Amino acid sequence: MKIGETEARVGRGRRRILVVEDEWINREILNLMLERDYDVVFAETGAQALDILGEQFRTLSLVLLDLNLPDMKGIDILRTIKGTQRTALLPVIVMTADQDSEVECLSLGATDFISKPYPKQEIVLARILRTIELFEDRDLIRWTEHDPLTGLLNRAFFYRYAAQYDALHPEGATDAVLLNINRFHMINERYGREFGDEVLKRVAQELTAAFEGTDGIVCRREDDTFLIYCPHRVDYRDVLDRVCVQMDRDYQVRARIGVYSCADRGIDVERRFDRAKQAADTVKNSFSHAIGVYDNAMHEKALYAEQLLEQFHTAIREKQFSVFFQPKFDIRPDKPVLNSAEALVRWNHPTLGMISPGIFIPLFEENGLIRELDSYVWRETAEHIRDWRDRFGKRVSVSVNVSRIDLGDPPLLKKLEDIVEETGIEHGQLLLEITESAYTDDAERIREVVEALREAGFFIEMDDFGTGYSSLNMITSLPIDALKLDMQFIRTAFRDGKDTRLIEAVIGLAQSLGLTTIAEGVETAEQMLTLKALGCDIVQGYYFSKPVPAAQFEAFLLPQGGE
Ligand code: C2E
Ligand code: MG
Ligand code: MG
Repeated sequence: MKIGETEARVGRGRRRILVVEDEWINREILNLMLERDYDVVFAETGAQALDILGEQFRTLSLVLLDLNLPDMKGIDILRTIKGTQRTALLPVIVMTADQDSEVECLSLGATDFISKPYPKQEIVLARILRTIELFEDRDLIRWTEHDPLTGLLNRAFFYRYAAQYDALHPEGATDAVLLNINRFHMINERYGREFGDEVLKRVAQELTAAFEGTDGIVCRREDDTFLIYCPHRVDYRDVLDRVCVQMDRDYQVRARIGVYSCADRGIDVERRFDRAKQAADTVKNSFSHAIGVYDNAMHEKALYAEQLLEQFHTAIREKQFSVFFQPKFDIRPDKPVLNSAEALVRWNHPTLGMISPGIFIPLFEENGLIRELDSYVWRETAEHIRDWRDRFGKRVSVSVNVSRIDLGDPPLLKKLEDIVEETGIEHGQLLLEITESAYTDDAERIREVVEALREAGFFIEMDDFGTGYSSLNMITSLPIDALKLDMQFIRTAFRDGKDTRLIEAVIGLAQSLGLTTIAEGVETAEQMLTLKALGCDIVQGYYFSKPVPAAQFEAFLLPQGGE
């Protein structure tokens, strides 16, 4: 690499060199040689040098060390740098007129020498650059500094420069900002990758220009996500407007921004950008807002979520999760009879009280913990089924929820088979509820998994039907046994000016496909009777019972129970 490229290579995060030199004239000469390419800090004494190293070691890329200082020997400073863990990896070039000390310096870890009087500027710069690069290559061997497509800093260097920025500006507020292009995968699909690349380059250019002349740094984190770390500002609308350029082919870039304002320096840089991402996610599906700001409520929510995640394993160990059962009634006979139940997990937290699955299930789905929780729930459920058979002589079927994450888990079938075998229940007693939207995620693969479960003898209920946009065509060919109408169907149909035509149509469809229909969220006698009249088979909801603990559910199994 040519010397003149140094600055371009570093971009706006300029490297910083500590020059330890007591003579004024030498400092002047070095400053002239270096200032174009580097930020230079000077120490005139050994004590000053150690102070700067102690406080600013993170920001330094190199030390140029004079061996003759008024207050201490340069050799001792070198020894301290190399003997201190946090500075040991900092390269040191020794400047000396005395060749005799070279061997000692090398043995102490000096990387190179620059003789005095100084050689030509090109030589000094070349040695410095080579040394810095060697050291950076060593600890960042896998990374190059820039994203090849956009020329922006890449993620690793960006985080490094952001930390450096903090060290250099201990005062002053900074913002962590994340920008994401809306529906970028569609752009690729619709106009081709090449055009997608053009969009990314253009956005990168606009962002660079937007932060030109400020201390802000910009990077492309991956795909269509850009990060900005910059001094605090109140508004980012101008940045957004800039980026939303009109490209040719009548396509206009649309983006959303998440801002974590006045970021807390106490947490590491990556986590600050996680918060910016959370803020951006709040405006993901919004038509009216494109800028989300990380606020206190989100912070509280994130802390709460973190706490729940952290405590998951303790909770499993201490059996804080319990399974509740909500009966499902067959409403075809004159008098409704118990058909089965749905197992619904509850977290009885020692300090937070009863937590609803609506809160923790999505959280556990995000990081895969749901697999462990679901296995636990399935096993507990199977054990209850077995227990009820033993104590009441009743064959009860219970449906369990199977998360979309479970479906991506290859040993799923084996897990379920083991549970059935070890508890001694029948396959048909464990009904599997799979949410409709799982089928639309990756239809082909899900179909295969579900087919295999069904062949093994499990019954499959499609949960939350009506919320997942599956096509009619898909429904007709899916391997399922029952359609479970989402609660929203019932809510909508029984609002003021009752209109049950949609429910009627869905029940008709289910019947024509030979599927059982289950309605959930049924709260009133009117709803139950209307559903019965429309031909719905099974009903679940507060009208009959809320989900209750196993012991309470047993009342439904006794001869007088049920109604
Ligand atoms: P879901 O499977 O659709 O379960 C039905 C939800 O509706 C349950 O909420 C139930 O308590 C509630 N519900 C039942 N009848 C009525 C009613 O008449 N009125 C009203 N307002 N609500 C009613 P819950 O127990 O809070 O569960 C919420 C969701 O959490 C479930 O929706 C399911 O998707 C998920 N979930 C619950 N337990 C598990 C589990 O063990 N594993 C997995 N993967 N997901 C679970
Ligand atoms: Mg369910
Ligand atoms: Mg449901």
